[in-house]
Amino acid sequence: MTQTMKYADLHVHTFYSDSTFSPEAVIACAKEKGLDAIAICDHDSIDGIAPCQKEGSIAGIEIIPAIELTAEKIDVEIHLLGYFIDWQAEWFQKLLTEIQKARLDRVYEMLKKLKDAGIEMNPENVFKLAGKGTVGRLHVAQAMILTGKVRTFRDVFDKYIGFGKPCYVPYTKFSPKEAIEIILKAGGVPVLAHPNIAGKDEYIPEFIGYGLRGIEVYHTDHSPRARKRYEEIAKRYNLLVTGGSDCHGFAKGKVLMGGVKVPYELVEKLKTEAEKIKKL
Ligand code: AMP
Ligand code: ZN
Ligand code: FE
Ligand code: FE
Repeated sequence: MTQTMKYADLHVHTFYSDSTFSPEAVIACAKEKGLDAIAICDHDSIDGIAPCQKEGSIAGIEIIPAIELTAEKIDVEIHLLGYFIDWQAEWFQKLLTEIQKARLDRVYEMLKKLKDAGIEMNPENVFKLAGKGTVGRLHVAQAMILTGKVRTFRDVFDKYIGFGKPCYVPYTKFSPKEAIEIILKAGGVPVLAHPNIAGKDEYIPEFIGYGLRGIEVYHTDHSPRARKRYEEIAKRYNLLVTGGSDCHGFAKGKVLMGGVKVPYELVEKLKTEAEKIKKL
């Protein structure tokens, strides 16, 4: 009998951060795409993990508990994924609550800057879009487009709220070193998310020095060329390889889940590494 290959999408958001998908919608989508496992990687929130596990156990889809943290260096924003974190740890949840508060304050600051730039918005419109999720730039972007003053996400980020643009407001206090250390302390495997978006490969050795274990080689925004480059970097530095769609439901237009998927054996490697980290 031939055994069918199992696949995982290792980068999925829920409406507990900036996806439009509820846990039910996430699982229904994963089922439809024929996935066997998905990692729930919300920005600064673990609230989607338990409900996805509940739905996933009914549908026969494994949920990998994860997180996506933001860190900054002077010239770039870095996203770090943490796989198989001890998401129920009290100190970790407390830390996330603090970050979520900083995200709220940041919305008011961004709206002040956007007002000066000629785009006036009621903060309630942004919070309504975020619902019960951690509020972020994707919600601000959606609200901006609803004003009719900006047409595309590209314009929103390139002209206003992208890193270093006039209405950009940071919220994270973490350096990459700190974010990696938080993930390790939570027993998770630290992985560099979508490295080609930051485009600063020269920092990778430094991150490895802090304890980075893996790199997201496969991602919706990675061209075949970028993929090949990161495959080589992973090999050179002996990093674990991961991949995921970074699906945000309909928040980025079309649904991306399943567009990028990796063989399940990569999940097993992550699991083994997480067990090692937990024993450190
Ligand atoms: P935040 O966590 O609030 O800083 O916002 C992060 C969200 O904004 C993620 O969903 C990113 O994919 C999105 N984002 C950040 N920069 C850009 C960009 N230049 N173009 C499109 N989306 C972006
Ligand atoms: Zn996001
Ligand atoms: Fe990201
Ligand atoms: Fe993401």
